[in-house]
Amino acid sequence: MARRRLPIASPFGPTDVVRAVSEATAEILAGASVAATRDAGESAVAWVDELCAAIQQRIPVPRPHACASGCAFCCHLKVLVTAPEVLGLAAHLRATLAKEALDAVRARVKAVDARTHGLSMDARAGLRQPCPLLEDGRCVGYEARPASCRGANSFDAAACEAGFSGQDVPVPLYKPQQQIAEAVRVGVSNGAMMCGLDGRPLELVAALRVALENAGAADAWTRGRPVFERALDAEADAMIRAMLAGG
Ligand code: SF4
Repeated sequence: MARRRLPIASPFGPTDVVRAVSEATAEILAGASVAATRDAGESAVAWVDELCAAIQQRIPVPRPHACASGCAFCCHLKVLVTAPEVLGLAAHLRATLAKEALDAVRARVKAVDARTHGLSMDARAGLRQPCPLLEDGRCVGYEARPASCRGANSFDAAACEAGFSGQDVPVPLYKPQQQIAEAVRVGVSNGAMMCGLDGRPLELVAALRVALENAGAADAWTRGRPVFERALDAEADAMIRAMLAGG
């Protein structure tokens, strides 16, 4: 399926991204099918990469990123997602992992959810609990990782490690990448709500547990059923509502 182009032109900022992604997501989800939901999730993560590439043309990355395969300090933090993203991630895991590997991921997701469910950003960080998709420091769902994961970046791995160890150290980063990823996630939330669907922000592990344990989750969400109710993140929901009200 051809990827829908975003109605956006350079130069753009986070507010433009939220608006364009909202419109495009609403158009996709108007298809009211599991395929449309999958398309919305796949489009969202692709848009992050496309928009980041575009903005780097205008605002060059000032120094090399420290991010590298096997470095996963940021994969110990709370991650926010939308339903289309997490449904796309679950579909990707089902399509790419062998049964034993998928069973192992499902078990880790359940175990991590039991430890992290309902925690705030700060409490989650303090737990230093790795994401259940990490294996040997690498993400088994990397190609379908959520927008928020694509926004995470750093110029200094030592600063990331210090933060991971509990020190209050600022992590130098390429801010536009983080802002675009967040704007895409907010836009997907808004686009879903424009279609009467539940676009509220979800916590990744709890939502992935729902998506992996319930083969009918995509269909149920597409029909407007409250399938992700236990994965809703109230902390982030309040922040997004404030951002949309001010946008
Ligand atoms: S989904 Fe992948 S990239 Fe995102 S936090 Fe988990 S392991 Fe890291």
